[in-house]
Amino acid sequence: MTQDSNVQYSFGTQAIHAGAPIDPHTGAVIEPISLSTTFAQSQPSVPIGAFEYSRSSNPNRDNFETAVAALEKAKYGLALASGSAVTSLIIQSLPIGSHIVSGGDVYGGTHRYFTQVAHTHGVTASFVGNLANDLKAAIKENTKLVWLETPSNPTLTVTDISKVSQILKDHEASTGNKIILVVDNTFLSPYISNPLSHGADVVAHSVTKYINGHSDVVMGVLATNDDKLHEKFRFLQNAIGSIPSPFDSWLAHRGLKTLHLRVRQAATSAQKIAEYLSQHHSVSRVNYPGLKTHANHDVVVKQHRDSLGGGMISFRINGGAEAAAAFTSSTKLFTLAESLGGIESLVEVPAVMTHGGIPKAERESNGVFDDLVRISVGIEETDDLLRDIEQALEKSAK
Ligand SMILES: *Cc1c(COP(=O)(O)O)cnc(C)c1O
Repeated sequence: MTQDSNVQYSFGTQAIHAGAPIDPHTGAVIEPISLSTTFAQSQPSVPIGAFEYSRSSNPNRDNFETAVAALEKAKYGLALASGSAVTSLIIQSLPIGSHIVSGGDVYGGTHRYFTQVAHTHGVTASFVGNLANDLKAAIKENTKLVWLETPSNPTLTVTDISKVSQILKDHEASTGNKIILVVDNTFLSPYISNPLSHGADVVAHSVTKYINGHSDVVMGVLATNDDKLHEKFRFLQNAIGSIPSPFDSWLAHRGLKTLHLRVRQAATSAQKIAEYLSQHHSVSRVNYPGLKTHANHDVVVKQHRDSLGGGMISFRINGGAEAAAAFTSSTKLFTLAESLGGIESLVEVPAVMTHGGIPKAERESNGVFDDLVRISVGIEETDDLLRDIEQALEKSAK
């Protein structure tokens, strides 16, 4: 960034300028896509520039990592092939025999990795519904990591990161055992929340969602202030090879430059949609962190920028699975599809789509009933989105 290093620029300015140097050879204001896999050296082991081989580092990936680090108020960023690659890299960095504690309703793929893959490299996992209350009792002698997702998916429960971080600090003070706290910040994006500022050691993202924001790149990123952790992750990534392509890094960086505008618009619309749904006679419950009636709204006020609730809403529709199916098939602007965080609005039924793999009893104990509908609010005009929901509720609800 060609900025005055004495000035602390605000989020939107950093989103545009961090990791975005003017090309010194051509003056291009947008970085070229660097496809070269290898980089020339002047003498053996003395590279001409900052790069040697594109698996280890690449100009487009570097610039994207610089930008994400700035937005997450982190010293380091590390971009990976997907959000799932971030999860697997972090868990693979733990010694054999480690135990991790995870929040209860984490992303399905994260749950799958913890329960069906992690044990193959000697890591076991326990799940705790409410980390801020029940973490202490779940910690074992070999616990090395806590995985926290806030807001949770799809019921949008918000967890107090600083409370969880304090439990781990107290544990370290009394036992000498350091447990690292990882927060998956995919649902809020760095615009709404910066988990490192609340005590997390590592923040993880599926870039596929808000950071890229245009539903055309699968990618992941993590950020940290810890020198040793960063070194370990970078070493491991180079060894494993789970890297994003230069083109995807370039696209994700382009998407990131409008993150603040997109998230503000999505959150503003989502707030109005959640309020509309809350008073609708066909809706029995609305989960949205921006509502003052949300169970964890006090945490939202201190942990989210401007108390924004984000772009994700879930709600229970009267009429069971049938009404949920009818609603999600009747919307015209909200496309029936999995995923979230893009410019276009999406709608889905978690019980049979994103969370279909979880047994019914376990699913329902987490609030994922057959009549639960999840929406990802895009950046279309608010009034058009409201009208679309209104007409779909009329067609479907009992
Ligand atoms: C999508 C998602 C992931 C996984 O990311 P991919 O890029 O799809 O591999 C992890 N966590 C959350 C919260 C997600 O929404």
